[in-house]
Amino acid sequence: MMADTALSDQVDSGKAERVCAWCGADISQRHARTKFCGVNCKQSSYRRKMGKEGRLKNQAYNKRYYAENANRLKAQQREWNDKNREHRKIRDKAYYEANADHRRKKQREWLQRLKRERPDEYREHLLGQRERQRRRDAQAALSMLILPIEEPSQ
Ligand SMILES: [Zn+2]
Repeated sequence: MMADTALSDQVDSGKAERVCAWCGADISQRHARTKFCGVNCKQSSYRRKMGKEGRLKNQAYNKRYYAENANRLKAQQREWNDKNREHRKIRDKAYYEANADHRRKKQREWLQRLKRERPDEYREHLLGQRERQRRRDAQAALSMLILPIEEPSQ
């Protein structure tokens, strides 16, 4: 039981029906068999169980496995996402609303880790974010141009 980390996340695990076995976040909205709030907590728990040596070995194995099967795994993930889009949307929204502060904290941690461990991907992420913001701005600017424009007389 990870009561200490649950407290540090300011999640009241006493009130939640089911909580993440690693960080204590409320996962009542998740599938009944779900034990963790996300893949990071699942991995953390698994790695602690394995100890340092097994942890390093497993990290190396996972890295190689992912590299060797990246396309297949990504296709699999995409297919699953497409099939479960609506369900995911509802579930993720409920989950995010119940754990907004916790998720923001997680997101910050993830960004910091990305910046530290994979600076290239971090830069890409920032560029993507800027690109999305640029597109939103362009759309907003376009929607303000609905006034008819007078043709220049010749
Ligand atoms: Zn968790």
